[in-house]
Amino acid sequence: MSLINQLFTRLVTRTLTSTNMSRSAKRAKFTNTCNTSPSNFNASTTEFKVKRNMATDSGQTEVEMSKFRAPDVIAKKRDGQSLSKEEIQYFVKGVVTKEFQDSQIGAMLMAIFLNGMDKEETTTLTRAMRDSGSTLSFPVQWAGLVVDKHSTGGVGDKISLPLAPALAACGLKVPMISGRGLGHTGGTLDKLESIPDFTVSCTTGEMGDILEKVGCCIVGQTADIVPADKIMYGIRDVTGTVESLPLITASIVSKKASEGLSALVLDVKYGQAAFMKTLDKARDLAHSMVSASEGLGVKTVALLTKMDNPIGLTIGNGLEVWESLLCLQGEGPQDLKELVCQLGGHLLARVGTAATASEGAEKIAEKLRNGEALQKFCDMMVAQGVKQETAEALCCPDTDVFTILPRAEHVEDLSCQSSGFIQSIDALELARVSAELGAGRSKAGEAVDPAVGLQLLKTVGSKVTKGDVWVKVHHQGDCVSANHITRLQNSLLIGGECVEVGSRVTEVVSN
Ligand code: URA
Repeated sequence: MSLINQLFTRLVTRTLTSTNMSRSAKRAKFTNTCNTSPSNFNASTTEFKVKRNMATDSGQTEVEMSKFRAPDVIAKKRDGQSLSKEEIQYFVKGVVTKEFQDSQIGAMLMAIFLNGMDKEETTTLTRAMRDSGSTLSFPVQWAGLVVDKHSTGGVGDKISLPLAPALAACGLKVPMISGRGLGHTGGTLDKLESIPDFTVSCTTGEMGDILEKVGCCIVGQTADIVPADKIMYGIRDVTGTVESLPLITASIVSKKASEGLSALVLDVKYGQAAFMKTLDKARDLAHSMVSASEGLGVKTVALLTKMDNPIGLTIGNGLEVWESLLCLQGEGPQDLKELVCQLGGHLLARVGTAATASEGAEKIAEKLRNGEALQKFCDMMVAQGVKQETAEALCCPDTDVFTILPRAEHVEDLSCQSSGFIQSIDALELARVSAELGAGRSKAGEAVDPAVGLQLLKTVGSKVTKGDVWVKVHHQGDCVSANHITRLQNSLLIGGECVEVGSRVTEVVSN
């Protein structure tokens, strides 16, 4: 069956139906309050703790601030010298306590941007940033089992939605703290919020409750997690210092390490629609992140994955939830399934739940096939505020999910303008158009439209005939603008050559 047919065909012979869906997932007490974490949460059998580092700590040992002067530390890095552990801790603490003025933070970030940091400095910076706010720690029974994934961001990247429950179905605990979309890539939280009543605002106490009962949750970041990153990222954004290997590493890894993880898998994307445009740059970032994360005691593996063509067949929040549900039913596009299984498989191997990554990938695939991952997703939705009957209906293969998920007012078909084989689909341009239709945001805080987006009917390698519909544009206005149509049509390259479609995974990086 073709990918397209898989996407449109509802399976009627599934073992999992709404009636045999377990009803044991009791709705966790859930409120919409944000950032009111109890510092100590006792569940019936487990103890889940939040260590409050008071937003002023900057490492395991308290740094004596009066020993240093900001201009001296900045000048040392400006002159290309390595900073000591205490100097880095002093800087991070100074960022959070405002002892460093914004101009001094900007100068230090530029000095780091220009002169870099060695592995030890990068690990120290990452640790100091992690400890600038609250960190989670988990009951001893969960030792070695708490895991997460981070992606550097891709177009159509909905991997977290099937992966978190599949990992939970394998017995792991997944406290996934995720983000909203900005720029051309959609955010996991935006996708989940297209499910009626799904709430991503969750106290740490509630996270512990859900992890105990379900095994996974996907929530937003609270203000007390890595406050140093919020300040530093804001200044990097306006000082041209975002693209720095040690700063990207410390920013990403500090936030993941604050979750108290045993193991982490990193999906480092490269290509025209990725943050890292080349394989070499992605490899450097992967090595840097793996080294810093391992330095903080988190077992880490990174996969370098291609990001030129969209992942799967959908771009847009509600549409991507639909495709994730298909993946959780063992269906949906092969490239999505492959990424979920490979990332999960490497993580299972890293924590020792599987002997090898390929054995791990097979375990994940089995959880997708046998309905256990779908059951976890259903339980997670209920625990995060979705009505039981809604969650069960969404997980039932017979349901038309667009009676529940938001549906755009209009759908316009675009057709191939020549015959041949699809050589490439420009994911970046598709993402930009989709964002302009309302699926994304250009400024933090803007609302997104959960219903709009793009649904591909053809993919790279497809043989097409002039006139075949290749994309459905889900939109709210009366018509799709001529500009958008031209840009979408220009993003499709059709040629005479038959195209071999290989794996998206190019390399694996570990220590
Ligand atoms: N994502 C982050 O969280 N931080 C960076 O510095 C870059 C990407």
